[in-house]
Amino acid sequence: MADTATSFDVIVIGAGPAGYPCALRAAQNKLTVACIDEWQNPDGSWTFGGTCLNAGCIPSKALLESSELYHRAQVEFAAHGIAATGLAFDLARMQKRKATIVKGSTQGIAGMLKATGVAALQGHGRLLAGNRVEYTAADGSRRELVAKHVVLASGSQPMPLPSVPFDGQRVVDSQGALEFDAVPKRLGVIGAGVIGLELGSVWRRLGAGVVVLEAMEQFLWMADAAVAKEALRHFRKQGLDVRLGARVGGADVGPDGVTLRYTDAGGEQTVTVDKVVVAIGRRPFTAGLLGEGTGVKVDARGFIEVDDQCRTGAGNVWAVGDVVRGPMLAHKGKEEGVMVADLIAGLHSEVNYGAVPSVIYTAPEIAWVGQTEQQVKEGGREYKVGTFPFTASGRARAMEATAGFCKVIAAQDDDEILGVHIIGPMAGELIAEAVLAMDYSASAEDLQRTMHAHPTLSEALHEAALNADKRAIDILNR
Ligand code: FAD
Ligand code: NAD
Repeated sequence: MADTATSFDVIVIGAGPAGYPCALRAAQNKLTVACIDEWQNPDGSWTFGGTCLNAGCIPSKALLESSELYHRAQVEFAAHGIAATGLAFDLARMQKRKATIVKGSTQGIAGMLKATGVAALQGHGRLLAGNRVEYTAADGSRRELVAKHVVLASGSQPMPLPSVPFDGQRVVDSQGALEFDAVPKRLGVIGAGVIGLELGSVWRRLGAGVVVLEAMEQFLWMADAAVAKEALRHFRKQGLDVRLGARVGGADVGPDGVTLRYTDAGGEQTVTVDKVVVAIGRRPFTAGLLGEGTGVKVDARGFIEVDDQCRTGAGNVWAVGDVVRGPMLAHKGKEEGVMVADLIAGLHSEVNYGAVPSVIYTAPEIAWVGQTEQQVKEGGREYKVGTFPFTASGRARAMEATAGFCKVIAAQDDDEILGVHIIGPMAGELIAEAVLAMDYSASAEDLQRTMHAHPTLSEALHEAALNADKRAIDILNR
């Protein structure tokens, strides 16, 4: 598709993990497609891939991997009989590796869009009435495009904390915290959510003293309580100074650091750090996206309103990913983007919002799908629980990674799997089996009767399912 064309079957605004899969699938469906993205890196370069590839999932996982390897060499190698003397790390090289991974991934997206025939347009897109889109190119030139369908996939941005404003130096957002060129001696993290825990872990493993201030009294409120309890114990043991019920009131930024003022159950407190990462959530991004008279509705929290199939209700305008309701996760956005591209092509498609996996890439890793035990209890349905600790897994023992457990919650009446919660090695990979099981409405017995290779970590999930009926083999059933 020529980049000068002005009329398309589909125009996608945003090329993050919601937008670019939508564009690719629409092209696979033989539709003519343009995908517009305005992402610009601090060095001025334009790239596709959105938050996830440029400043989110991928760079954070690159640094998590490097820092975990370093940490394991420090604390675990000795148990294997490996002497790691004179161990050191080169942060510049670690950062360069991360940048190379990001560049390879974003160039891969650009290549895929081109190879699939998508007109990949760098610049700003603004929806106008009547399915028209005003496209402002990188050089400032403007032209009007028109499409049978427009998909809005403009994503999200970090939520600011007015009492601790970003300054890009001492007080940064998650993108800034991925770019430190030196390990801060003292790092303050505001928010013990996914970003706070992942990035706090990176810098803690590399030697920073990390204080995490969390407003809620309850740690990881969105996770199963047993998992959250286990996680907090491990994180504190690793040296993350997690302070719960801490309400930040302000910050004094000086040449020697930032003094954060907060109140907790003990009254007024302060903590002085060298850098602060504000990670209190993200908010939908729609600045400059919607022209006059489009009919697209935005709710009180800034999300574009859509139905279960991501229709905005305004003509043939759809919206997907972080800019609409639901968890702000790359895979949730991807499935929505693909669903919309298929629906536009007249194919059947749906997203199962009841089986969206969540993963926190800490060590131990945390992953879950479905309802927590508290949610099941509140729902009033009779249920049974099976658990299996990784201390009883041969593979986990061989890996020297026995922290954590698998937990399966199933309905008492028909044995339906209601939720699966894992904290432990490779939890993010193990959860895929549970997602598949739930997507296919499997019962705990279905998991029990499925053969799992030995010795693998997946046996822990198998045994947890067996334990739900007190039939586990490798632990005493209690
Ligand atoms: P985005 O990725 O934000 O992409 C939107 C794109 O649209 C951007 O490139 C933006 O520049 C562009 N855009 C916006 N408005 C316009 C416009 N008007 N014209 C043109 N272009 C426009 N999720 C996971 O599932 N797993 C993880 O491990 C994970 N780790 C994360 C780590 C960090 C540090 C962060 C910050 C996020 C992480 N996330 C993770 C969340 C994930 O990045 C988001 O859920 C995902 O990127 C959302 O995809 P999206 O396509 O909706 O939006
Ligand atoms: P989050 O919603 O996960 O956590 C924010 C935390 O900050 C919460 O615990 C909240 O109680 C706390 N908080 C809010 N206001 C506060 C205040 N004033 N003071 C102290 N604490 C406060 O948000 P996040 O960690 O910023 O991540 C944003 C989004 O990015 C999440 O929705 C997440 O889904 C996504 N993300 C996902 C992954 C992953 O899938 N592994 C990784 C990173 C980010």
